[in-house]
Amino acid sequence: MEENSLRIALAGNPNSGKTTLFNALTGAHHHVGNYPGVTVEKREGKRTRNGRVYDFTDLPGIYSLTAYSEDEVVSRDFILDEKPDLIIDVLDSTNLERNLYLCLQLRELGIPVVGALNMSDEAKARGIRIDEARLSATFGIKFVKITAVKGHGINDLLDKVDSAYAEAQNTTGCTGAEVLSYGADIEPWLEKIEALITRRENSRGEGAEDIRVKAEARFLAAKLLEKDKAAETRLAGGANGGEILSAAREGIEWIEKHCGKDAEIVLSERRYARIHEALKGAVHVDKAAKVSIAETFDRVVMNRFLALPIFIGILWIVFQLTFTIGAYPQDWLQS
Ligand code: GDP
Ligand code: MG
Repeated sequence: MEENSLRIALAGNPNSGKTTLFNALTGAHHHVGNYPGVTVEKREGKRTRNGRVYDFTDLPGIYSLTAYSEDEVVSRDFILDEKPDLIIDVLDSTNLERNLYLCLQLRELGIPVVGALNMSDEAKARGIRIDEARLSATFGIKFVKITAVKGHGINDLLDKVDSAYAEAQNTTGCTGAEVLSYGADIEPWLEKIEALITRRENSRGEGAEDIRVKAEARFLAAKLLEKDKAAETRLAGGANGGEILSAAREGIEWIEKHCGKDAEIVLSERRYARIHEALKGAVHVDKAAKVSIAETFDRVVMNRFLALPIFIGILWIVFQLTFTIGAYPQDWLQS
């Protein structure tokens, strides 16, 4: 790897504006190929700024890091196996709650993440005010407002990328447990499975002291408790694969009995609870914000009391028009 170059993955939900941002970042200098073995497109491009080369990869859009679809498998494998230096998570500012679900899981991987709050123009038009400094403080990563489609905020974003990367180099990094605690009932299971996975990585000489190996072990332990098939396959093959999977099965059984719900639902609820906490006070929606003409129309026409009279009124008008306007061709045809 070059001395002063950063490998950056662009991740985010579908339609959050990843490709638009990718194009704004790289201009025309990109390369389109395929990920090995699948038909999903792989786009790579570079940008040079202040003597640093940024190497971007535009990942397929995903909602979660659970490996259900081909897109999710590709994105997750890329992050786990290629280990980019940093991830830019592109978020749709008009739908932050759902978009942060992926962001939280990216953070659990122990890779530095910068949040690009995209669609800022749209959020502003809808009266959604985001206090990004506050959100950064409550969520634990840097956020930058951008409008990818107009190329706004790109330099600011790259400044934040530089500082986030520098900070990650100078600290030991953030463990998954600091990012999110799944609660006193689930944590002991995670720790147990995580320890088994780390022991396996150690025997392969992957240095368990590495913060990323630790975070990845915790991430995979959580995925096992979510009954993630790809995580099972990834871990089953190793020396203590059987031991890992049976610990996970035991954990799932206990959680489902203790919480009375599917384990994967319990884990996702804990993530959303963390997100709601982070959003508190960081996002305000102006009630008096400009409501679009379509929304005003909908509100009147769909009104509980007015809907039926309006509907009958329209039928009456159509009826009248049919006969008054219809009278002209009628007279003409008769003559
Ligand atoms: P991807 O699926 O994440 O790659 O999303 P795209 O880059 O294809 O963008 C999805 C749609 O959002 C496109 O129609 C873009 O033009 C639009 N879009 C992207 N960025 C912005 C933005 O900052 N503001 C607005 N209003 N639209 C945007
Ligand atoms: Mg795209």
